[in-house]
Amino acid sequence: MACSPSVRGTEPGCSRESGNSRMTEWLPERRIQCPYCGESISIVVDVSAGSQSYVEDCQVCCEPIEIQVDIEAGNLEDLRADRGI
Ligand SMILES: [Zn+2]
Repeated sequence: MACSPSVRGTEPGCSRESGNSRMTEWLPERRIQCPYCGESISIVVDVSAGSQSYVEDCQVCCEPIEIQVDIEAGNLEDLRADRGI
């Protein structure tokens, strides 16, 4: 029975997790309330694309939500969710 020596103790450890936390600060993910079912859902806003409006299906009830995004100078100014009929 050969017991090979383990080198586990020499690894740098979990420094990866602390490095990722920086990205979450600017991650353009926002929460809106579904105008149909009232559930809070998260959407990703691309602020570099400027003001925009688009339709995204609710993750809960699958109804089409019209999302309007107002962006000024790369900052999210306003975010609205309406029924996109
Ligand atoms: Zn919904």
